[in-house]
Amino acid sequence: MAVSLTSLAGRSEKELSSAPTTPRRTSSKPTLSTSLQHAAHTRLEQCLNHANRMLKRNFAKPELLFSVRGKAAGKAYLQSQQIRLNPTLFAENPQAFLDEVIPHELAHLLVYQLYGRVKPHGREWQTIMKNVFGLPARTTHDFAVASVQGKTFEYRCQCQTLPLSVRRHNKVQRGEASYHCRRCRAQLHHTGIQLS
Ligand SMILES: [Zn+2]
Ligand SMILES: [Zn+2]
Repeated sequence: MAVSLTSLAGRSEKELSSAPTTPRRTSSKPTLSTSLQHAAHTRLEQCLNHANRMLKRNFAKPELLFSVRGKAAGKAYLQSQQIRLNPTLFAENPQAFLDEVIPHELAHLLVYQLYGRVKPHGREWQTIMKNVFGLPARTTHDFAVASVQGKTFEYRCQCQTLPLSVRRHNKVQRGEASYHCRRCRAQLHHTGIQLS
């Protein structure tokens, strides 16, 4: 499944998120190892130095936080020049984050400093990804998102058990919807088990 790689924060530093919204998890805050945090800072600095050399500029070093939740890999906050990464997805996909997500977010901040507010993944951003970082200008990721997905509930028909999202589960509980198995066509009933 392709999921929006990142999103941009807007004028008042509110998110202009293009990522699908997910219910907040109630589990405890994921912790990221210090070695991965260190690797992220090092990679960011390396990308920044590289961009400074290539573009003959002296861009300020962005702040780096690990506070994104849900399915987005990272977010760029243009006005505060902040990069926020998803600690859960980072821990699960460290190489992809170091290779691609960090330069992706940094490119947003560089574009903002160079051109102001332009289309998030437009020509300017694509050019920086390709010509400065030598990376594909991708805007989606295919990380497994099970660990950052919202709550799911187990349902059963006559042939299998299936997970239903919390949104669907709530509709069933309120009597607003019923769901049927595509295979056996029987109605799905909650087994009483919450899967995540
Ligand atoms: Zn982006
Ligand atoms: Zn069935």
